[in-house]
Amino acid sequence: MKIRATKFFRRLKAHVLGYFWLPCPICREMFAGYECSGSLMTDWSSGWGVCPDCVDEANRRNEAYMKANPPPIVDLTREDLLTMPSASALPMLPEEEAPPALAELQKGILDGDPGDRPGN
Ligand SMILES: [Zn+2]
Repeated sequence: MKIRATKFFRRLKAHVLGYFWLPCPICREMFAGYECSGSLMTDWSSGWGVCPDCVDEANRRNEAYMKANPPPIVDLTREDLLTMPSASALPMLPEEEAPPALAELQKGILDGDPGDRPGN
């Protein structure tokens, strides 16, 4: 077990340096933002910071979350794909596996059709 400064000084340091002082979502102990050592996923794009003592538990719960909740399939439009900076560097998927908008874009790239690419 690590020896830490007293709660008073940790909280004071957080306040002075502009870090949060919030309860850990796992153990409920108050901790400072500068001590935050990992995060507990609440979904695929966000999570809560956890205290240093709960990093292993957070990682275990995150792995269970990811197994139980596969990442959502994002339904991109052709315009979404064309406005991405690296649209032409997207991985090529077999036509039957690619979402329709991506398949259409891939076909344009393979046919050498520069018509809709950004900058044209
Ligand atoms: Zn904790």
